[in-house]
Amino acid sequence: MVAVASVQRSSVGQVFAAKPAARRVAASRRVLAQAASTSVKRADVPLELEEIGLPMNTFGPKNPFTGKVVSVETITGAKATGEVCHIIIQTDKKIPFVEGQSYGVIPPGTKINSKGKEVPHGTRLYSIASTRYGDNFDGMTASLCVRRAVYVDPETGKEDPAKKGICSNFLCDAKVGQEITMTGPTGKVLLLPEDPNAVIICVATGTGIAPFRTFWRRMFMENVPNYKFTGLFWMFMGVANSDNKLYDDEMQALAAAYPDQFRLDYALSREQKNVRGGKMYIQDKVEEYSDEVFDLLNNGAHIYFCGLKGMMPGILEMLERVAKSKGINYEEWFEGLKHKNQVHVEVY
Ligand SMILES: Cc1cc2nc3c(=O)[nH]c(=O)nc-3n(C[C@H](O)[C@H](O)[C@H](O)COP(=O)(O)OP(=O)(O)OC[C@H]3O[C@@H](n4cnc5c(N)ncnc54)[C@H](O)[C@@H]3O)c2cc1C
Repeated sequence: MVAVASVQRSSVGQVFAAKPAARRVAASRRVLAQAASTSVKRADVPLELEEIGLPMNTFGPKNPFTGKVVSVETITGAKATGEVCHIIIQTDKKIPFVEGQSYGVIPPGTKINSKGKEVPHGTRLYSIASTRYGDNFDGMTASLCVRRAVYVDPETGKEDPAKKGICSNFLCDAKVGQEITMTGPTGKVLLLPEDPNAVIICVATGTGIAPFRTFWRRMFMENVPNYKFTGLFWMFMGVANSDNKLYDDEMQALAAAYPDQFRLDYALSREQKNVRGGKMYIQDKVEEYSDEVFDLLNNGAHIYFCGLKGMMPGILEMLERVAKSKGINYEEWFEGLKHKNQVHVEVY
């Protein structure tokens, strides 16, 4: 597993700027967590990477960067629906990025385009899953979290290798030392707010967790003098079953170490039931906490969504239904949140 957190005992006790309801929950969680109070040791990092601003498309398809694979690790279990790999790439601080951005990867080889011409494969985007300091905290690597795209023939129910995803399979099958043609970084939708006391609610399905791993590592695992996070980080994670959980060990360690500041809730669609007795999808889990979520949003919390496009209709429908049940004008309310830059959506 991809855990680099070293866990040791210490105290907790930070508070975050939230409404009383959220503080009450934090207080009861603190009591529950007292016995198991642990903390994750923060790593020192090369602080020159704090001075990079917001890099954008430093490398493009015509002048790409060449990274080298350090490791490829399957991070899903045997009963997972599909395979997800954590891939560490050597970048030597030469393609710096900030948390929440993506890299492009150009897979080797060519394709025949719609005009019958042989052209290089196009760029695929991948959210970066490590902070700017990488998994080893030295800034020399960056990590990706890649789901292997397979094609299952709807008639036979069997995988057809001829139609498998080109770039994701290239990355998941990559060998140590293999060169990776990269572009970017790109993206400004999923950036963290500057306020270190913000409430950050993250809602992910599958590999959508990648950018949020950069958030929690920056908040809780690195020693960054100009970013001392005092707010609340709340992760809602939707996957099919327990074997599909990603980076769970890292999150559990942080939830134990920072019970006031790190919350984690799973929606396991094939293992849990929602209140109506149906499958537990991500919107059902968020709805369970809708009073708190609305309360936090009305007090300035940021909400982030990342993962498959298909997650958004169910989430928006749930938010609308809950808003109406509270007598809130949904359109006005949601537009207001967007206007105040509290809503961040990157789905693919
Ligand atoms: C902003 C952004 C961030 C992203 N972040 C991530 C991330 O963190 N992790 C991640 O895993 N992905 C991420 N993606 C998705 C990623 O960019 C790729 O789209 C994904 O990996 C599939 O690319 P591929 O080259 O493997 O598949 P492609 O070769 O592009 O194929 C796409 C799909 O079509 C299917 N297919 C191929 N041929 C046929 C055919 N003849 N008939 C029918 N179907 C066919 C393939 O099986 C595959 O499922 C992100 C996308 C965006 C836009």
